[in-house]
Amino acid sequence: AEFTSKRVRSMFTEFFRDRHRHKLVQSSPVRPRGDPSLLFVNAGMNQFKPIFLGAVDPRSEMAHYRRVVNSQKCVRAGGKHNDLDDVGRDVYHHTFFEMLGNWSFGDYFKEEACSMAWELLTEVYGIPPDRLYVSYFGGDAALGLAADEETREIWLSLGVPPSRVLPFGMRENFWEMGETGPCGPCTEIHYDHVGGRNAASLVNQDSPEVVEIWNLVFMQYTREVDGSLRPLPQLSVDTGMGLERLVTVLQGQRSNYDTDLFTPLLSAIHQSSRCPEYRGRTGQADDGNVDMAYRVLADHIRTLSVCIADGVYPGMSGAELVLRRILRRAVRYSTEVLLAPPGTLASLVPTVAQILGEAYPELYRETVRIMDIINDNEAQFLSSLKQGRGVIDRTLQKMGGAQLFPGSVAWSLHRNLGFPLDLIGLMLEERGVTMDTEAVDRLAAEEEKLKTHTEGPNRESCTELDLHSLSALQGAGIPHTDDSPKYRYS
Ligand code: ATP
Ligand code: MG
Ligand code: MG
Ligand code: MG
Repeated sequence: AEFTSKRVRSMFTEFFRDRHRHKLVQSSPVRPRGDPSLLFVNAGMNQFKPIFLGAVDPRSEMAHYRRVVNSQKCVRAGGKHNDLDDVGRDVYHHTFFEMLGNWSFGDYFKEEACSMAWELLTEVYGIPPDRLYVSYFGGDAALGLAADEETREIWLSLGVPPSRVLPFGMRENFWEMGETGPCGPCTEIHYDHVGGRNAASLVNQDSPEVVEIWNLVFMQYTREVDGSLRPLPQLSVDTGMGLERLVTVLQGQRSNYDTDLFTPLLSAIHQSSRCPEYRGRTGQADDGNVDMAYRVLADHIRTLSVCIADGVYPGMSGAELVLRRILRRAVRYSTEVLLAPPGTLASLVPTVAQILGEAYPELYRETVRIMDIINDNEAQFLSSLKQGRGVIDRTLQKMGGAQLFPGSVAWSLHRNLGFPLDLIGLMLEERGVTMDTEAVDRLAAEEEKLKTHTEGPNRESCTELDLHSLSALQGAGIPHTDDSPKYRYS
């Protein structure tokens, strides 16, 4: 039978539940509960953190967990695990993704964890073993941590050739949840999409040819606030495999965006855009960043939908500010690169629900509310962009032919409408004038002097149009038609 994403997800949970006696636990919401060290849930293990730490209420259901399996909604867009900058640029990092995981809380340890993972990948999913590489913790002399030779031996005994069992250091093979919290050495499984002779040298090199798919963490420590490692009361296993990456492998694709988790979204985006179809697959040059825009939109609408359904709304601080930036980034790619009309983003929410709603039914229940919130925020953003453009154009008229744009106006755009100064500078450059940066610097310095500790309401929004996506859009070279949105910078 076909490896649909739904089937891949349920094969994972059923393998651990039915064949290896794990209890199936539901995904927690992406808004962390009672954990100020986290912005978003970033791994399947988050909800089990009290168990690792030995801090679980003995009367709670969790106190009885020994073997658990789940598929967890994760967001990595802030904090220690932040992949926002990679999204759209590569084809295997998302801001929202699903993490398939199995756990042992003081039950099985390294040997059983590795052998079950190997059995699932090679026998149940049928992945050819010669496409798999494994990494293990090579130790860290300075920190007094020994190499995990035990894990190396386990992989060799499972039949993995020595040339495919590779040691790495702290950065790759010592997993930590955050600045503090449970951590330990890990062993990871990587998939070679190409079958090339130099695949071993591409492991952990951020290459699209050899991609990490599964991480098996042997939880043994907790990182304290002072940076020290304290041994945990019991040895546990915590694994996480990205569903999107696994589905890509099983559907014979090279990009997560070419799987059934994303293709319906790309088609829906195409219907609203005035650009060619998504061509990521063809390997052609991405003229005008159109493919990038497709990926950003498809990624960000999933994140927005899941977060809003779980009660994280676009806002002014913390996770909410992150979500607001994600929304605004999506709106800019949508309107400026894909030339799609306002409302496009929200129109994709029912497609997200069709793809993910069976696994996460709140997406069906909340569809209308998610759409309303996205539309409101989009309208607000588009109107401040429009207002800013109006201010600039009126000022230019008053200036006659003068070259220097008044610093006071630029500062007011920045301060009151939340325009980053770099963006204002760019918009002016495109209109053939320059910003009076000296005056702006003076105003900024004055404000700094006056500044009390209460921040103005628009202060955070100054960073909302993140510059790298701006420069990406800049090189876009999309032909703007006359009736194209008013939000372009020319
Ligand atoms: P990478 O090195 O590719 O950034 P990671 O080492 O940060 O991944 P882990 O923290 O080990 O990832 O998470 C376990 C698994 O979750 C990874 O092996 C991968 O399959 C998946 N994963 C991690 N980050 C993402 C992401 N941003 N988007 C999609 N899948 C992800
Ligand atoms: Mg990562
Ligand atoms: Mg990694
Ligand atoms: Mg990893």
